[in-house]
Amino acid sequence: MLYLLSREIIVADDRLLKGTKAGFFGGFCSCGGEYKATSFFRDRNHIYVLRECECGSMNVLVFDPGSDRVYEHDTRKLDKKDFLKALSHVFTDSELKALISKLKGDKYSYSAFSRARKKLEDAGFSLSDFEVIIS
Ligand SMILES: [Zn+2]
Repeated sequence: MLYLLSREIIVADDRLLKGTKAGFFGGFCSCGGEYKATSFFRDRNHIYVLRECECGSMNVLVFDPGSDRVYEHDTRKLDKKDFLKALSHVFTDSELKALISKLKGDKYSYSAFSRARKKLEDAGFSLSDFEVIIS
């Protein structure tokens, strides 16, 4: 599954990914207009290109070099509440709770927090990036 919070932040296949801004031609939309590739994301196995058209159509083109496949992934932007649910694919309940508690200044489980922070760092996110996601 693929969940989009913003042009910079997606959850794809249980990974939190940070986007890089882009602005190149992204192909033609079914409305006849042109897609603009507005950002792209990478994980170990895929490259994801977010494409947007003036008509409001939005999708993600997924490049899968391992299987020589390119396919479109329909997508829609989630609000923060739904995106937080999507984060449960990335973090365990205790990790998510530890992250949120730490940011609130509450007590938290240090071991859960350090596992969660490792996942964030592996994805190129800092704790303050995460604060933006959940605030
Ligand atoms: Zn269009």
